[in-house]
Amino acid sequence: MKSDEIMDIALRRGFIYPSSEIYGGISGFYDYGHLGTLMRRKWEDTWRKHYLSLNPNYFEVDATNIMPKNVFIGSGHLENFTDPLTECEKCHSRFRADHLVEECLERCAEGLSAEEMSGLIKESEIPCPKCGGKLLDVKMFNMMFELSVGSTGDSETAYLRPETAQGAFLNFKRSFNTLRGKLPIGLAIIGRAYRNEISPRQGFYRLREFNQAELQIFFDPDTIDEHPDFEKIKDVSLRMFPLQNRSSGEVDEVKASELHKNYGIPKFYIYHLVKIQEFYLDKMNFPKELFRFRELSEDERAFYNKIHWDVELYTESLGGYKEMGGLHYRTDYDLSGHQKASGEKLEVNIEGKKMVPHVLELSFGVDRNFWTLLDVFYTDEGDRKLISLPKEVAPFRAGVFPLQKKEELENIAKNIYERLSKWFDLFYDDSGSIGRRYRRQDEIGTPFGITVDFQTIEDNTVTIRERDSMEQKRVKVEEIWKNI
Ligand SMILES: [Zn+2]
Repeated sequence: MKSDEIMDIALRRGFIYPSSEIYGGISGFYDYGHLGTLMRRKWEDTWRKHYLSLNPNYFEVDATNIMPKNVFIGSGHLENFTDPLTECEKCHSRFRADHLVEECLERCAEGLSAEEMSGLIKESEIPCPKCGGKLLDVKMFNMMFELSVGSTGDSETAYLRPETAQGAFLNFKRSFNTLRGKLPIGLAIIGRAYRNEISPRQGFYRLREFNQAELQIFFDPDTIDEHPDFEKIKDVSLRMFPLQNRSSGEVDEVKASELHKNYGIPKFYIYHLVKIQEFYLDKMNFPKELFRFRELSEDERAFYNKIHWDVELYTESLGGYKEMGGLHYRTDYDLSGHQKASGEKLEVNIEGKKMVPHVLELSFGVDRNFWTLLDVFYTDEGDRKLISLPKEVAPFRAGVFPLQKKEELENIAKNIYERLSKWFDLFYDDSGSIGRRYRRQDEIGTPFGITVDFQTIEDNTVTIRERDSMEQKRVKVEEIWKNI
């Protein structure tokens, strides 16, 4: 299976490892090895450059992972961030009730209450998948990790953040003021988030500790149907999978201008759809057939999301189209909620106009994007395995190889490695045949191989081998940087 092949390379070569492995670990937790760390950082850097350059008033901030209870009263997480849980009477294993209903009864469980799910499980006598025992009534289980801050006696209940977004909402007022009170203002956070998933079965896709990259854009709701650059993007075709296509499974190619006219989606929202698609197709090089925006029904989306399309990629190892992120028009839900719960005024005053800004959220799961890159770009050609990663996110840009273990070749190769390392992440390898060294780099996605051979001594040129085509060309040492 493809997921096993990718996991095999990931473990064997150092992309990811099960966390706390020598103690048996816990499911839903993974560490990043040396290659994984490099690759994830590069994905994050590409993300940062792409989205923060959309507007000179979009910035990255950073916030703590631990936040007091009242934050999550204001955000609604304490009340609503729950999953339906059922427990086996006999073996006490716990399961997601909605997943069981979906799998056993082949129906959608989205939007069902705990009582309705209990009823369905009883009626259809769904047994415990582990031991066949009877399942108990469905309870709503809050997915936040609770902890207490301070010594016992005066300790305060706090939570690990279940999403990075809250940090941006809490810092909004100070950021707005220090950035001279302009809208729109964008606050991005890239960092960890935590969800106590009941049974994270999908390997690297659903994690309990994970990485998010989110951008919260605060704007004046009266301007939602305008964007200064809309003219520039109006002819871009977007790959849309609206609700009415659910049964056919077809993806529509719709021009941005038609999306505005025929679907009634506001221009500010469409502009960001275009930029998201650009990130996936132009920066990450995904074939466009694997990409789509999926419209969510009212039952599927959070009640405060007025417009919600998920970003999906076809990921073979995960069994089809999978959510990589989403574009959410959250209205004033977040700032109004925190204003009410904290008593702090979060409305702004722009030239006499008072308002609570609305939020457009761009939200992405970093780890699942990482996994899907490995999935989509992995191929087994029989005599070699390769991952054709875009060069921006490949862990190493190039391998540097002296053809043989001879001092004169090694000296030149080391010199090239040292000089170019200021600009690129490189891997130096002098062991084994040159063919094997190329294969090792193909398998971890390195786009180029730089080989120092005997001709280098004579004319100061090296060969550069390109990963996907395996074509080689000779270039001057001083011009390597232009060719990788
Ligand atoms: Zn059981």
